[in-house]
Amino acid sequence: MADKVILISPRGFCAGVERAIATVEEALKAFGSPVYVKHEIVHNKVVVDALRAKGAVFVEELSEVPGGSVCIFSAHGIAPSVREEAKARKLTTIDATCPLVTKIHIEVGRFARQGMEIIYIGHRGHPEAVGVMGIRPDITQIIETAEEVPNLSVKDPEKLVYLTQTTMSVSECSEAIKALKGRFPRISAPPSSDICYATTNRQAAISSAAKECDLILVVGSKNSSNSNRLVDTARSLGVEAHLIDTVADIMPSWLEGKRAVGISAGASAPESVVQDVARHFMRDGAQLSNMELVKEDMRFTMPHELHEISRNMKR
Ligand code: SF4
Repeated sequence: MADKVILISPRGFCAGVERAIATVEEALKAFGSPVYVKHEIVHNKVVVDALRAKGAVFVEELSEVPGGSVCIFSAHGIAPSVREEAKARKLTTIDATCPLVTKIHIEVGRFARQGMEIIYIGHRGHPEAVGVMGIRPDITQIIETAEEVPNLSVKDPEKLVYLTQTTMSVSECSEAIKALKGRFPRISAPPSSDICYATTNRQAAISSAAKECDLILVVGSKNSSNSNRLVDTARSLGVEAHLIDTVADIMPSWLEGKRAVGISAGASAPESVVQDVARHFMRDGAQLSNMELVKEDMRFTMPHELHEISRNMKR
């Protein structure tokens, strides 16, 4: 068993995830159950199971939501066609899209009006990418890595901009951007990085802690993009790393010969699981220490639809 367990910060819930979870909880208080949620509100099994137990119903298609019901859009954002479908079906909708994803949706609209073509660096099929690609599919192409850049075909290399998914690996994304700039020297960048503060901070904290650890455990679910990127970050620095949903996922073989275990958590993973994991090691005598790279104080206001609902309820 390890002698040392290091809690790596920042870790866990970001401002967008806190807002999305609070949105479902507030909607359940205001409307009672069931409240429908398009897609998992955030990509974490523990969080989704807890909300399901309180009365949230998670669906992939709006056709699964009975007409006239309340439907929340997840933190990952949606394509405009989903909004239109919800309107046609007279659903009461609450949009929990993270404001940092909405920022990218707004950028797509603005660059489209300027006649630009968009190269989006993201993961095909991830709901955030599906939402962004659905805004202007006629002018947007997706790539996942630098290797795909030579295959791109664009109309006018002078009128080109790249955007990125919020949860990309900072280092892999910079490889893709380098390749894009090599092939299209006039390509424009977004006004500020699309990779969000939470992704950047958690990856930087892992990079800094990696020197001190011989194993890093990342609390997060398999479908969580940002959690997977934390595992990738540790492995790219030569440190063994694994993704775990709960303490039950820890395999004894991972701990053989390990002295210092770092614990981090993806932006959608609850702190209660991190504390369970830390206690697991401390029970066997490991010393606990904290390693904090930066303090985060980001907060987002709740979706405006919730303010309107509570105003109407007071009338
Ligand atoms: S990871 Fe970033 S973009 Fe995603 S919800 Fe959190 S703050 Fe928003």
